Amino acid sequence: MSIWETDVKISFFQKLDKNKKVDILIIGGGLSGIHTLYKFKEEQSICLVEANTIGCGVTKNTTGKLTYLQENTLGYLIKKGKQKEAKLYLKSQIEGIQEYLKIIKEEQIDCNLEKVSSYLVTNQEKYLSDLEQIEEFLKNEEILVKRGIPENTLPFLAGISVLDTYVFHPLKYIKGILKKIQPESIYENTRVVNITKNNDIYECITKEGYTIFAKKVIVACHYPFFLFPYFLPIKTSIEKSYIIAKQVNANLKYSYITMESPSMSSRFYQNKDKMYQLILGKSHSTSVSQNDKQNFHEVKQENQIEEDSIICSWSNVDIKTFDHMPLVGELKDNLYIITGFETWGLIQSLVSANIIKDLLDGKPSLLSDLFSPKRSFLKKILCSPFYLTLNGYSFLKSKFYKKNWYSNQLEFYRKDGKLLAVFHDEAGAHVVHPVCPHMKCGLIFNEKEKTWDCPCHSSKFDIDGNVLKGPSKKSISYFDE
Ligand SMILES: Cc1cc2nc3c(=O)[nH]c(=O)nc-3n(C[C@H](O)[C@H](O)[C@H](O)COP(=O)(O)OP(=O)(O)OC[C@H]3O[C@@H](n4cnc5c(N)ncnc54)[C@H](O)[C@@H]3O)c2cc1C
Repeated sequence: MSIWETDVKISFFQKLDKNKKVDILIIGGGLSGIHTLYKFKEEQSICLVEANTIGCGVTKNTTGKLTYLQENTLGYLIKKGKQKEAKLYLKSQIEGIQEYLKIIKEEQIDCNLEKVSSYLVTNQEKYLSDLEQIEEFLKNEEILVKRGIPENTLPFLAGISVLDTYVFHPLKYIKGILKKIQPESIYENTRVVNITKNNDIYECITKEGYTIFAKKVIVACHYPFFLFPYFLPIKTSIEKSYIIAKQVNANLKYSYITMESPSMSSRFYQNKDKMYQLILGKSHSTSVSQNDKQNFHEVKQENQIEEDSIICSWSNVDIKTFDHMPLVGELKDNLYIITGFETWGLIQSLVSANIIKDLLDGKPSLLSDLFSPKRSFLKKILCSPFYLTLNGYSFLKSKFYKKNWYSNQLEFYRKDGKLLAVFHDEAGAHVVHPVCPHMKCGLIFNEKEKTWDCPCHSSKFDIDGNVLKGPSKKSISYFDE
């Protein structure tokens, strides 16, 4: 459970129990879907379907920072000398923050919004020139940048900071924004499992077998549950990070992120008279490391976190793309996608919702070109072998790496040639077939969260095999078969 879930429950919405006809269907109720729905709130014929509950995906597990000092996205463009793109990207992020402030003010959303400085820091000399390049770029864009490192934290070699950035409570924000949206337009516990096209109408089939007929479909479900069009696995990889919230005595007005890999980041959060520090660490590709318990342990050690100060801890994943830019736009006739946020999706989801709105209104822009999922054919082709190898490596590792799947509470056996895994706890035996239905990767048991995780494309299942997170559409419960 993330710290945001401890004090906010999003109210329950209806479940779809009949066929439905709309002009626009949004699939996925994270910030991407909710922002898009908000942008179309005047639209009469629209609905959003969410497989579980609103905000329950990657969104509820973020660190809640609204900053444009993003090393992997903005930093990448600057370092590559892509000045024009970097300016465009920076402008979009600054405008995104301004729009957040406007929405929060206009809709009177109480979401613990605080203005804090954002730091980009490093402990390694090899990053000093990159840091300088980013600093120079920001100065040229007339942004007030300061040199220096944050106070009262681990010692860093160097850093820069900007002032006009924020932190907030993502679930309180969603709860506030939902008050401005017609509740009849939202369906929870409604998972789309298939999309087909008949004449000009998309037919989106739900797990329960109902059909939503839609002229336009916006897929905002993080990792899409379909492979074609686009075949995302060869254009992306999955990054996972570990977050610990600990109680502290002061609410310091800064956030930071390190430039090195694996990166580390932090922010503070105050809820009434209680103050917390969120520390994120050990970010890595899921193909590299799969032992969550060990990773949490290392984050604790590296940051000298006392066990009894910990309030909660959780992990999260996001999608990295071939050029560090999001994938937002039309995939093919009236089928749109919003994904690939590289761990910076809070602002990007709002920026993306604007792009989708403009595209549907027939107004493409330079930014929609920069984020277009159809962009840079050559780059995609060149990157594909890398992602193919990474995905292949994850697949093979998941199949052959044993070590009892990181838990000694598991038993494995074969029945009729099929691998089964049994997890024992007070409630009894939980039997699953530990193979992801999406692309047949072997699942890894996450002892910390008591889930089965896919190291290739980030599907997640509970101990009874129910899908917690896609792209898998199916459960892995033995008893469902
Ligand atoms: C460790 C970590 C920290 C982060 N911190 C920050 C931060 O400080 N600032 C920042 O800007 N960004 C941050 N991010 C990134 C940001 O949280 C994400 O990019 C963003 O929340 C993604 O939102 P989303 O709506 O696209 O995805 P999600 O929130 O995952 O929403 C997708 C929704 O679609 C639903 N769904 C899936 N399949 C289906 C289906 N078939 N039918 C119906 N519904 C479906 C899911 O249940 C889910 O609710 C962080 C990411 C990570 C990994």
